[in-house]
Amino acid sequence: MQKILEKIQLDAWIAALGEWEILAPAMEDGIWGYHPLDGAVRLDHSNTTQPPKGLSFPQREVFFSFEQIKGEPPRLTQKMPAATRRAVFGVRPCDGAGAVRMDKVFSDHVADPYYQNRRKNLAYVGLACNKPQGSNCFCLSVGGSPVATEGMDVLMTDLGDRYFVTAVTETGKALMSAAAKVFTAPTAADKKLVEKTHADAVAQPQRAVNDVDAAPAKLKASFDSPLWEELARACIGCGVCTFLCPTCHCFDINDESTGSSPIKGNRVRTWDNCQFPDFTMHTSGHNPRESLGARLRQRVSHKFQYFPENFGMPQCTGCGRCISECSVGIDIINTVNKVTGHVG
Ligand code: SF4
Ligand code: SF4
Repeated sequence: MQKILEKIQLDAWIAALGEWEILAPAMEDGIWGYHPLDGAVRLDHSNTTQPPKGLSFPQREVFFSFEQIKGEPPRLTQKMPAATRRAVFGVRPCDGAGAVRMDKVFSDHVADPYYQNRRKNLAYVGLACNKPQGSNCFCLSVGGSPVATEGMDVLMTDLGDRYFVTAVTETGKALMSAAAKVFTAPTAADKKLVEKTHADAVAQPQRAVNDVDAAPAKLKASFDSPLWEELARACIGCGVCTFLCPTCHCFDINDESTGSSPIKGNRVRTWDNCQFPDFTMHTSGHNPRESLGARLRQRVSHKFQYFPENFGMPQCTGCGRCISECSVGIDIINTVNKVTGHVG
């Protein structure tokens, strides 16, 4: 389904989606992310600092609460996410691609009911990038595109005073059908213009990872390279690079409890971070990734070697956030290119 939506009709479309909670790019506490719509939707901001991954994989979530009185069996109460349907407007193609990778992690080998319950109620109404959103975009070199529909339910393309709107999934069709009156049929000129807009977008210069297909073998061969320590020397271990990544998904599970009888508490999942020194710390005190270089190698190799080996695609979608937001200038493109460049 392909339609035209005049920009002045965007609010009318959203108003017709009464059963859906609507989220859109907004600034909260000085940071752009995806938040429940408060007023008119704004899609003129460049890509958000926070990706939408927290909507399906929140930074902190309770799996179940427990209560145990001494001598009695524990009482457990599972806390499944509410089945609220949420439509997220303005998602960029690198984050749509991020959702596909997150789906693989939480669905392909082990089905995670908490993730899946949120994800099945989440629809992405994407917005194509007519030009790169920042100087560190590199989606094209990692198998993506600024106009890709991967992970989207709907893809909108900005044509100036209107959007060219394409339904990608059945959910996307339903979202558009809920407000059929606000859309019109595209003309032949509209179709020609969207084709040209997409071709121009793909032709825009971007940074690039060199030969992503060869990266798994080259990274494997570079495991002991001294370059890792050299490239990681400035890292302060803040973890921003992975917390803001649309595909990083490592987590920790803890029991938070109080009292002795009854013991009351929650089993909680929180994001964890491979750039933290204690991420792999053993109870013995031994840490297999003690150095900065070992931790950078893990982050980069997971994205460009281990994930491709497991799922057949890089775990990086080229959004550039980890580069733009790193306060000491550690750059995943340079890192991959330098390390793999030393292997024949
Ligand atoms: S954002 Fe930069 S400094 Fe912080 S952990 Fe990542 S690479 Fe290190
Ligand atoms: S590794 Fe960096 S560039 Fe790649 S998807 Fe994650 S944040 Fe974006």
